[in-house]
Amino acid sequence: MDTAGKIAFVNGKLSVPDHPVIPYIEGDGIGPDIWKAAVMVLDHAVRLCWGEKRGIRWLEVLAGEKAYRETGQWLPHETVETLLDFRVGIKGPLSTPVAGGIRSLNVALRRELNLYACVRPVKYFPGVPSPVRKPEKVDMVVFRENTEDVYAGFELEAGGKETVRLITHLGREYGWRIARDSGLGIKPISRSATRRLVRAALDYAVARDRRSVTLVHKGNIQKFTEGAFRNWGYELCREEFGGVAVTWEECGGHPPPGKILVKDTIADIFFQQVLTRPEEFDLIATMNLNGDYISDALAAQVGGVGMAPGANINYEDGYALFEATHGTAPKYAGLDKVNPSSLILSGVLMLEHLGWADAARLIEQGLVRTFAERRVTYDLARLMEGACELSCSGFAERVCKNMEGPERI
Ligand code: NAP
Repeated sequence: MDTAGKIAFVNGKLSVPDHPVIPYIEGDGIGPDIWKAAVMVLDHAVRLCWGEKRGIRWLEVLAGEKAYRETGQWLPHETVETLLDFRVGIKGPLSTPVAGGIRSLNVALRRELNLYACVRPVKYFPGVPSPVRKPEKVDMVVFRENTEDVYAGFELEAGGKETVRLITHLGREYGWRIARDSGLGIKPISRSATRRLVRAALDYAVARDRRSVTLVHKGNIQKFTEGAFRNWGYELCREEFGGVAVTWEECGGHPPPGKILVKDTIADIFFQQVLTRPEEFDLIATMNLNGDYISDALAAQVGGVGMAPGANINYEDGYALFEATHGTAPKYAGLDKVNPSSLILSGVLMLEHLGWADAARLIEQGLVRTFAERRVTYDLARLMEGACELSCSGFAERVCKNMEGPERI
């Protein structure tokens, strides 16, 4: 067993020592509050499951405001190197720097580590207030492509010399008439990135016995980007998953028993259908921008962004960075007030990724019991009748307590 604490990737599988070193980024704004709460819950679950035999050795790495204060850089090179070295990390939210040449630290981190799949499970915990009538029907996992689309950052500002030159070129060479005072953006969607994202979703569906994968796109309008995503997704399904999955076209929407249905839907009607018929959706595979909108919209159905976990994963080499999906909520920074569930649940995903599923289940049990007791943070308390409002740390302590007891798994 590796005593240095490094997680390795051998023959397509993670090899995790009993005391792995896991780098963490505390995050800006509410980051330190939710990080303290999350680490309390994660450590307690591991201790309850395995005592001293297993444990995480946390290693702080810097990014965001803290990094800028201490090193003058928003994303020090050392942070990226350490995350690559130890393979699996976890982070709180980071504010977007107003200067420094980085558009978004989150996008930069995903790109530096080549974390091509953003995986966001959206599941309802009984008792959590929801704006929909049957939130228990929501049980979806969003696979959002992380490296392309308008997030690739190929943009030119309106009025710039290069912008005008490109507009002129497009007019002359392609006959595209674009107003000269336009800003421009390029939306790359490649066959290779689409295939690895859809492959990740289908592998996940097979491993977890899920029912369907829906490709969400706006291909009726953007034929060679979003439309191509749909076509390449189906192509990949037929080529690599013929034995276990079947496309809508092949089965008319009625898959043989045990086979995963791969279907597609246009993004605009998708937003209606996930509200009116959520039970028809299981895994969602989509591009970067759609995925961003979709995961927040789905999170609203199960209690809001404070409840939504996220993982950024490169399945081809096991690199992963788990993160709260919400932002830094600066007005609540340092108040020990916000809901730490998003980061706690991201930690649950991390434990599953490590193969420490018992600890993951224990935390879910602690959360289920705490919500059932109506002991919640302000965001849920304001929507819940008879709730007992807890602080961020108070909520984490209660989750720890609720993991204990003779009837635990
Ligand atoms: P935000 O930080 O997510 O906050 C928006 C609102 O969401 C908050 O005012 C609060 O609502 C609610 N909220 C967020 N986190 C919560 C939690 N843990 N518990 C309960 N409620 C929570 O979005 P923003 O204000 O648009 O962005 C602030 C900064 O975060 C920006 O710099 C942005 O770039 C950055 N950001 C980072 C990430 C990331 O690191 N992954 C993601 C998104 C945004 P109420 O006011 O209703 O209570």
